[in-house]
Amino acid sequence: MQARVDPDLCTGCELCVTTCPEVFEMEDDKAIVKTDSVPAEAMESCRQATEECPVEAIIIEG
Ligand code: SF4
Repeated sequence: MQARVDPDLCTGCELCVTTCPEVFEMEDDKAIVKTDSVPAEAMESCRQATEECPVEAIIIEG
């Protein structure tokens, strides 16, 4: 499973970084994905972050 953030949609609210710090981090005023693939132990929190993103900027693939 891989995740990515659409930088055109992300508002930089930091919610995903709080929910799933294993995968997301802030870079300047946007969230970015810091892992090539989502670690098994972070899949649930990554899915939660995706559902919680207020602008649906997180895309999960695979
Ligand atoms: S929750 Fe969504 S809008 Fe907020 S920082 Fe993460 S990707 Fe950006």
